[in-house]
Amino acid sequence: MSKRAAAFAQSDDKRPKYDGNDMRLRISPMPSTHLFVGHPFDLNVFLDVPEARKHGAPTNDVTLHVDLMYVTEETHAGGARGTAPIIGSASLLEILPSSSSQFGANMCATLKLCIKDTSKDHQNRDFTVVVSALRNGAVADDIRMVVSNPLKVVKFKLVIAEMTGIDDDGLWYKDQGGRDKAISLKLQMVDKDGSVALPSQRIPLRCKLMYGNGNAVGNTNLLKISPECSQQINEDGFGDIKYRIEDVSKNHQKNSFCVHVCPDFKFNPAFTDIAPVLSPPVNVKSKVSKRPKQENKQPYSYAADTMPKPEPQPLKITGPRTGPGSPQQSMHKVIEWAGMVIKGIESMEWVLYGYEHQADGSGADMSKPIYRCPACNVTKSAHKQQTKHQTDCFIAQIMLQYSFEVYHHLADLLKAVESNSEDQNQTMGESSSSS
Ligand SMILES: [Zn+2]
Repeated sequence: MSKRAAAFAQSDDKRPKYDGNDMRLRISPMPSTHLFVGHPFDLNVFLDVPEARKHGAPTNDVTLHVDLMYVTEETHAGGARGTAPIIGSASLLEILPSSSSQFGANMCATLKLCIKDTSKDHQNRDFTVVVSALRNGAVADDIRMVVSNPLKVVKFKLVIAEMTGIDDDGLWYKDQGGRDKAISLKLQMVDKDGSVALPSQRIPLRCKLMYGNGNAVGNTNLLKISPECSQQINEDGFGDIKYRIEDVSKNHQKNSFCVHVCPDFKFNPAFTDIAPVLSPPVNVKSKVSKRPKQENKQPYSYAADTMPKPEPQPLKITGPRTGPGSPQQSMHKVIEWAGMVIKGIESMEWVLYGYEHQADGSGADMSKPIYRCPACNVTKSAHKQQTKHQTDCFIAQIMLQYSFEVYHHLADLLKAVESNSEDQNQTMGESSSSS
C-alpha cells in the first residue's frame, strides 16, 4: 500500500461519520468471502454522488487506487472495520490489464483483481481490498474510500454437490419417517477450476448448526450427526454428512436452519486453505399438517412485478446535520437505519442453494449455481434472471414497498422536518435581531 493511501486510511475515522455531501465509493456486490488464490475476480466499484453535488465537481478525472490490507480487530467510529498495511502488498495483489480504473457512464468501474498468496501464508489473517479515489495522482479527499468485506484466500473449497432428504419447498418434517430419517449432503472438494481435488490425506469435517440469517444456534445439541456417514473428505475428494435437526423452526422465531461444514483445523492447521461451506437452509416442522396445502400460489403480483425491479437505494441526506435530539437528527437516524436494513435484506435475497447437473448427468456443474430466496424458497438459476418471489414473500414485499412507497414517504418527511426547522431558525434569527 502506498504511503498516500495509508495516510488516507488512517485519517478515515477522523472524518465526519456521516455527511450527506460526501461523494463515496461503494462496492456492489461484495466479493465472495472465500476466494481462490491466483484466480481473478471482479470488483464492481460505484461512485455515489449526492443529488446536491450532481452539477458540481466533475468526476471524469477520478481514477481508482487499490490496495490489499489486513483486517484488524479494532473497529473505527461508526463500526468501520480496522485495517493494517501488508508489507509488500503490491506484489500480492495483481490488477489485471482488463480492469477499468475509471468510471463509465453508469458511475461504475469494474476492477479485475487477483490475490497471489493464501490466507494460510499470512497466519490465516483476513484480507480486505481497500479502494480509494485519486485525482491527478493525489487522494481525492471529497470522495470517501471503501473497504471490502473480510476475505479469506484459499486453494480449495468444499461444495455441496447434492442435498437429499428434504421436500422440494425446503421443508423437513423431523417427526415423520422415523428416527433414522435424516438430511444428506454430498460434499466435494474442488479447485479453482471447479474440478474435484484429491487431498493427500483424509479431511475430518466439523459441523455447526446455524440459522439461515448466518447466526450460530446456541444449543449445540440440536444437530445430530448420523453415524452412517463419512463426516470427512476421503482420498477421492468426496464425502458426506447425514444429520437430523432436533427442533422445529417455529421455536426459533421461524428461522430456517443451515449446517456449516468446515475442515477440522485442529486436526491439521494446514486445512485452513480449504474453504468451509454452508448448506442450503431448511425449514423444520414436526409433521405434515392436516390442513390441505395451499394450492396454486399466485405469482408475485405487486405493482412492480411487470416492470424492471428497482434497486432499492438508501435515501441520500443532503441537508446539514444538526444538533443531537433535534427532529432532523432523529429523521437522519431513521433514514440511515432504513438504508442499512434494505442493504441487509437485499444481500439476503438470493442465497446459494446448489448447482445444476451436468448435461451428461455426470454430477454437479459448478458453473451453474442455483440460488434460493430464504423467505419464500423460490429457486432461480443463473440463466433464469426473471424469477418471481411468492406473493407472500416478506423479502420481496419489504424491498418493493421501500422502493415504491416508504422511500418517498421518508423523503417527504425529511423535507417537512427540514423546512420546518428553517422556518424556526428564521423566526429565532428575527426575534434575536429585534431584541
Ligand atoms: Zn422470496
